[in-house]
Amino acid sequence: MEEKLERMRALAKTLNQYAKEYYTLDAPTVADQHYDNLYRQLQELEAQTGTVLPWSPTQRVGGDLLKGFAKYTHRAPLWSLDKAQNHEELAAWVARTERFVTEYNAKNEDPLPSPSYVLTRKFDGLSVNLTYDEDGVLIMGATRGNGITGEEVTRQIKTIGSIPLKVESDALFEIHGEALMTKRAFHAYNKTAQTPLKNTRNGAAGALRNLNLAETRRRHLTVFFYDIGYQEGAPFTSYHEMMAFIKDQGFPTDGYFKTAKNFAQIEEGIEENLKDRSTLDFDIDGVVIVLDDLRTRSAMGYTVKSPRWAIAYKFEAEETTTALLGVEWNVGRSGRVVPTALLAPVDLAGVTVSRATLNNMDDIRRKGLAVGCDVYVRRSNDVIPEIMGAVANDKPSVPIEAPTHCPSCGTPLTPIGAHLFCENTLSCKPQLVKTLVHFASRDAMNIEGVSEATATQFVDELYLSKVSDFYSLTLDQLSSLSRTKEKRALNLKKAIEGSKRPLLSNFIYALGIPNVGRKTARDLAEAFGSLEAMRRASRDEFLEVPEVGEVVAQALVDFFQSEAVQKELDRLRTLGVDPQNPSAQLKTPDHPLVGKIVVVTGSFEGVSRNQMEEKLRAMGAIPQGSVSRKTDLVLYGEKAGSKLEKAKALGVDTMSEAEWMEWMKG
Ligand SMILES: [Zn+2]
Repeated sequence: MEEKLERMRALAKTLNQYAKEYYTLDAPTVADQHYDNLYRQLQELEAQTGTVLPWSPTQRVGGDLLKGFAKYTHRAPLWSLDKAQNHEELAAWVARTERFVTEYNAKNEDPLPSPSYVLTRKFDGLSVNLTYDEDGVLIMGATRGNGITGEEVTRQIKTIGSIPLKVESDALFEIHGEALMTKRAFHAYNKTAQTPLKNTRNGAAGALRNLNLAETRRRHLTVFFYDIGYQEGAPFTSYHEMMAFIKDQGFPTDGYFKTAKNFAQIEEGIEENLKDRSTLDFDIDGVVIVLDDLRTRSAMGYTVKSPRWAIAYKFEAEETTTALLGVEWNVGRSGRVVPTALLAPVDLAGVTVSRATLNNMDDIRRKGLAVGCDVYVRRSNDVIPEIMGAVANDKPSVPIEAPTHCPSCGTPLTPIGAHLFCENTLSCKPQLVKTLVHFASRDAMNIEGVSEATATQFVDELYLSKVSDFYSLTLDQLSSLSRTKEKRALNLKKAIEGSKRPLLSNFIYALGIPNVGRKTARDLAEAFGSLEAMRRASRDEFLEVPEVGEVVAQALVDFFQSEAVQKELDRLRTLGVDPQNPSAQLKTPDHPLVGKIVVVTGSFEGVSRNQMEEKLRAMGAIPQGSVSRKTDLVLYGEKAGSKLEKAKALGVDTMSEAEWMEWMKG
């Protein structure tokens, strides 16, 4: 028996070490299969002996339904922090702290060190308090609750793979951490969840305060530890020492722990985090600034509710709630009818938000939205505002109905997958206008001056109904447009005429084939060399093009087989539109630019940088965005800046626009 117990202790220790390597260090040293073998051995021994060690990794597995939550009183309170909403309030706190130390030192023999601060991130999750006993065994996990008393969630905590079940310390201690859902875990969960989570914080809170342990596990929580709340013997003199202990014992941290000596350095740290906020894999809502020296901390003490030696600098919220006033349905270029939420205007991260995109009816149903209800709105960085879900309250609301007919032309809508489509591609005005604008856009046919307003005028006043109609417009017709002077008509005519010999890749992109963007258009031009070859191509031939998959290949076949498209392409040719494929002529194996890395910078006469890169690509060069030692040539136009300087510094060849023109003439 004792032998078996000995073996169990050894197995538990080894398995816990492997788990730490896997979850915390992200550096597994053994194959999963080896782990599974040892794990099964331990399970068998536990069954044979009828004993389970409290730190056994088998305790992590959750499938149980628990009865309820017991209350737990923390050995040391989890304080809430004073908050600074702006730099002035923060500066006042720093000044207060420095004054305190100066005054203290004037009155006392044993002076405090001059203030040194530590910055950590303020995580947007749920605070937890874990207790480890004299044997280093995790004996209790609790939520923060009101800071004095929380709820026991030991079993839930044990499902989190990165939390050590046993550590090497022999003094009882309590450690504080923040349980959170990473953005990755959040999105993965929402992909398959019947009811999507509204934000990562709710996701984490709902996982820990859940009696169904399987659900807790499913959310893949992470905990970052940052504080020892209580430890027998009180062995630390600074926050640095405390943090070193936390890391030594194998507790996961987020890695950000920054010292600041003064207000300027604190501000720097805040800026740094504001900048990184959107790229982190977890949500933060501010920065916590605390004093490093623990003796200074205890000299400063506490107000009724918070420590005087700490402050939280709050970031602008990225999320808020507001009322959903209605839903507007609009037709896109592809005929897809898309809902937009109309919101009671609300300030969010520096802008007023009054609209948010919704994908389709499925999205609306999944999120439980109805007109009149309150919703969670999120906006981070420059991302378009998004509705995360409905607020559970009893406000009266009206269900959102899917439209049955096109809001613009009245054609009955066709459901395809989760989306609704207006299939009246010929005379549904918003589709037509957007198609014309896309066709004329810079990376397509590059007809200057065709804005959405102009395209609308063309449709309303000149009855354009397809893209080829551009090329049958006469100067008289253009001059007859309302609000149009001779000059504008001439410019439009010139722009239309000037667009007749586009690059083949731009022409393919201009056609607006579903799922064919710039990159695919380029690949197709490269592979087929001419429009005629594409019109004759089979599905298999399309599939041979790198990165063209089943969906795109089918879209291409469908497109070119359509009678309307064939007519339209013939008409474009008759009207003089003649796509050019310079790569067919220029890209010979001995062309000096083949395979050369070229960086284009500055502005060029009459061509955009994109078009210049397009030309280079057609010659077999590889255009890139930034200059490095690997760059072969920097081609520069007017107002070229740092890239040109860098090229010169690195000794990379450079060529001005004039030299380029000269060189092209041969
Ligand atoms: Zn329509």
